[in-house]
Amino acid sequence: MRTFQSTKIALTCALIFILSLMGVLLQPLQGVHAAAKAGTPAPTTPAQARVIGQGRSDLPKIALTFDDGPNPTYTPQVLSILAQHHVHATFFAIGNQVQSNPNLVKQAIGDGNVVEDHTWDHPDLTKLTPAAISKEVTSAADAVQKATGQRPGLLRPPYGSVNATVRAQVAALNMTMVIWNVDTVDWSRPGVASIENTALNNAHNGSIILMHDGGGDRSQTVAALPHIITTLQQRGYQLVTVPDLLHDMNIPA
Ligand code: ZN
Repeated sequence: MRTFQSTKIALTCALIFILSLMGVLLQPLQGVHAAAKAGTPAPTTPAQARVIGQGRSDLPKIALTFDDGPNPTYTPQVLSILAQHHVHATFFAIGNQVQSNPNLVKQAIGDGNVVEDHTWDHPDLTKLTPAAISKEVTSAADAVQKATGQRPGLLRPPYGSVNATVRAQVAALNMTMVIWNVDTVDWSRPGVASIENTALNNAHNGSIILMHDGGGDRSQTVAALPHIITTLQQRGYQLVTVPDLLHDMNIPA
């Protein structure tokens, strides 16, 4: 009786194993079959682009990010402070600003920083048609590529505004979206101390800190930046670019 029961259990286990194996094997085959039947190649990109809001929580690395530039007044000041402190940042540039100031993004990359895509003219992408979303993103990428020779692989959606349509369009462009998890609200000009405190009180492993080098008066941001950099370094953080953070997460950038 005991032997019979163990044999029965063993057979059941074997059957479950074989069935699950068949399921695993059949799933991709069915996908290929369905795609072949429809006359289209099997999809190679995810249907929805990833939206990254922070790096690894077990590594003392932080990314400073600057949006809405390049700006002829403030971007050179930000670049100069970054260079003085031997750190690199990520600039999410607006396409039409890149077109007007190509040398600034060229300098940013020449200094070892990264320049990525923040759309052509900063619309809320969730309000646009799929074709218009695609045009906003590719026009800005084209402008950055023309100015620097390097094509952005990362998109920061204006206002962090994302929906399924935006994610599908960005996936089709083979790009990853990057938002933030520390918002200094520097654009509202809350005062230098406020920008410093918001950045420093909320910074932790893997933080992506949002600031702005364009889009208005950014003198408070410039004034706050040295203290933010030196304090984070004193706390033992390494200031890296967003692609560096993504590299640690095995996400291509
Ligand atoms: Zn912006």
